[in-house]
Amino acid sequence: MASTNIPTPPSVVVVGANLAGGTVARSLRTRGYEGHITLIGAEETPPYERPALSKQVLSGAQEPGELVLPVDWADLSVDLVLGTRVDEIRPAESTVVLSTGTQLAAGAVVLCTGGRGRRLGVEGEHLEGIHAVRTIEDSLALRSELVAGARVVVVGAGFIGAEVAATAMGLGCEVTVFEHAPIPLARSLGPVWGPFVLQEHTRRGAHLRLGTGVHRFLGDDRVREVEIGGGDRIPADVVVVGVGIEPATELAEGAGLAVAGGIHVDRRAATANPGVFAVGDATLQPGWRNRGVTRLESFQNAQEQADVAAAAILGQELPARDVPWFWSDQFEHNIQIAGTLDASDDIVVRGDRDGREFSAFHVRDGLVRGVFAINRGRDVRAAMRLISGDVVVDSEALADPDTDLRRLARPARAGSS
Ligand SMILES: Cc1cc2nc3c(=O)[nH]c(=O)nc-3n(C[C@H](O)[C@H](O)[C@H](O)COP(=O)(O)OP(=O)(O)OC[C@H]3O[C@@H](n4cnc5c(N)ncnc54)[C@H](O)[C@@H]3O)c2cc1C
Repeated sequence: MASTNIPTPPSVVVVGANLAGGTVARSLRTRGYEGHITLIGAEETPPYERPALSKQVLSGAQEPGELVLPVDWADLSVDLVLGTRVDEIRPAESTVVLSTGTQLAAGAVVLCTGGRGRRLGVEGEHLEGIHAVRTIEDSLALRSELVAGARVVVVGAGFIGAEVAATAMGLGCEVTVFEHAPIPLARSLGPVWGPFVLQEHTRRGAHLRLGTGVHRFLGDDRVREVEIGGGDRIPADVVVVGVGIEPATELAEGAGLAVAGGIHVDRRAATANPGVFAVGDATLQPGWRNRGVTRLESFQNAQEQADVAAAAILGQELPARDVPWFWSDQFEHNIQIAGTLDASDDIVVRGDRDGREFSAFHVRDGLVRGVFAINRGRDVRAAMRLISGDVVVDSEALADPDTDLRRLARPARAGSS
């Protein structure tokens, strides 16, 4: 691997031992780093994958132990310190301070601190029976209450809210979803596909209340009712709040780094301090192809940006970033999106929209800019090549299920690099 003359730090402390942190540590070793790596996490579980927490773990189809990354940390010579917080980073002294009071040498620090569930800030939010879904413990606590017939109120129709609602319905619960915005899943799917996804919930009996905020929760030893605008009250046995996350920026902020909207990093995952990097849900970074800035909460981002940080720390050539990609599973449907989904794009559908087995390509000026696919993941990888290769496409060919999308991508790839 090509490397620059940046001196390699003698030690790296990775703060936050989950997907981003675990991947940074592993990537450093894969890239040949021989210095000391300490991976410190506040949770008690070794790095694990969260996506199943709102899906298979919640439904009981998977157990938490199955989510743990299959990595032997000792074998990689990574000191894994669990159940411990980092309280302060001191880049000027090349140290970090743990909650135990211990100070550790840190030639470089990588902040992989993720985020915590945003709170609504309304009365009664502390009541028993009100849940968030971020950790294994959260998912297990909710799972124990999702019994058939339970009246479940989901606050927030984002991906996690939609997944929890689908899982709860699968378990026989009666589900109501409140969304403050007029359109569900608007931020990630836009006005066409957001409502399309939630249609499946209502078709199966969920109540969807758009443009409706929650004013307070009422109850005794636990939540009993949810009060919405106009004073209406809805009975609730269980409430799930899924209204996004607050990026965990406090360590960066304490070190004087920019944190508005997430820890600010450049395309090298570097902050303004040469000894401090940041990766994953906690970061605000340049968008794909340097378009604007963005904070991505996705599995793909945590993994890719982690490898970028490892390369940057070692002064190696940065790996290329792929087209942003995300998936979700709701009911028996697998949903995948890549690129950008602008409502003003031309939309070319391939497959059976009514049968919920199709890909919708968002096309502008003959170029595919994004894809929304439901139960048609096989199209998505090829679509990502079309997007990244700036391939001019023929809409008819794109719509034809007999067209091999990989072949469409080929000529331009050859000419584009
Ligand atoms: C329920 C759920 C379902 C999801 N489903 C999908 C999906 O289907 N598809 C998809 O692409 N993505 C999904 N995601 C998103 C994906 O899981 C996240 O983007 C990914 O986990 C981000 O990894 P991270 O390491 O940046 O942050 P996190 O996973 O949040 O990890 C951060 C870790 O840092 C620790 N930490 C924070 N501060 C400190 C400190 N001071 N000291 C020590 N440790 C600290 C935290 O305890 C935490 O363990 C889902 C997320 C959730 C919660």
